[in-house]
Amino acid sequence: TEALLDVRDLKKYFSLGTGFDLKAVDGVSFTINKGETFGLVGESGCGKSTLGRTIIRLYEHTDGEVLFKGKNVHQLRGKEAGQFNRDAQMIFQDPQASLNPRMTVEDIIAEGLDIHHLNRGMRRERVAELLHLVGLHKDHAQRFPHEFSGGQRQRIGIARALAVEPEFIIADEPISALDVSIQAQVVNLLEDLQHDRGLTYLFIAHDLSMVKHISNRIGVMYLGKMVELASSYELYARPLHPYTQALLSSVPVPDPTVKRERIVLQGDLPSPANKPSGCGFRTRCPLAQPRCAEEVPRWQEAQPGHWVACHLIES
Ligand code: SF4
Ligand code: MG
Repeated sequence: TEALLDVRDLKKYFSLGTGFDLKAVDGVSFTINKGETFGLVGESGCGKSTLGRTIIRLYEHTDGEVLFKGKNVHQLRGKEAGQFNRDAQMIFQDPQASLNPRMTVEDIIAEGLDIHHLNRGMRRERVAELLHLVGLHKDHAQRFPHEFSGGQRQRIGIARALAVEPEFIIADEPISALDVSIQAQVVNLLEDLQHDRGLTYLFIAHDLSMVKHISNRIGVMYLGKMVELASSYELYARPLHPYTQALLSSVPVPDPTVKRERIVLQGDLPSPANKPSGCGFRTRCPLAQPRCAEEVPRWQEAQPGHWVACHLIES
């Protein structure tokens, strides 16, 4: 397997003034292999979206590096920067908010195409192709976003992302705002497109049930840090981190002979501007020990390919 993306100790802090930083992403390391779907999971406010946006340079990074095909994306300039901006695209949670209501579908989708200076006919043809690819009709091109359902708007967002022929797509909760009946259709579309075009996905979701079937590997984030990473199968079969165990305990199990005790987390997610000392999860962890308040647990490979940050697990 070949790493397409290599994230190394990435940090994104937002300054709150008076010397305080909101450490939205606080030293995250992982790789995404070419052609895989990497699921990224955690509660809202844990830093998932900020991580995605920092990877594709919508945000300046604070520290660490992101390598895309071996090149440091935050150092790209000129043509190389432009190429990366096409290679890596993002699909957003709320297609309503991310599509300009005053632009026609054709203009929205073709926005990224214009660098190729296509003539009108070629542009129209290319948009028709892209609409077809996402299951919409070419007659939709002259309409406006509000004339479509949520699921159709997400398809328009996907067509816009595909217009520049990306290799890597960050899908930031692309189905969370959609009706359950529509969610599977959009997921199937993303999977078909991946299969046909060899796309690589970072798929962000707030719960594990959404990413289980589509992800090759899954990373779990809590308070700006990744706390566990494993193959989808391994994470479900042998979750090591108490936070992952709690998340999984609330996912319904289809097999009634498998018993999973429900672990209910105490308290709320602390503010990333005022994190607990030591392990960030200790204020809600049912297994916390005195040591957890003093030392930040190390990010370690407990089993081959299975990473975790918890004092209870020593490799
Ligand atoms: Fe819980 Fe301590 Fe492990 Fe953190 S390091 S998850 S507080 S046991
Ligand atoms: Mg988010």
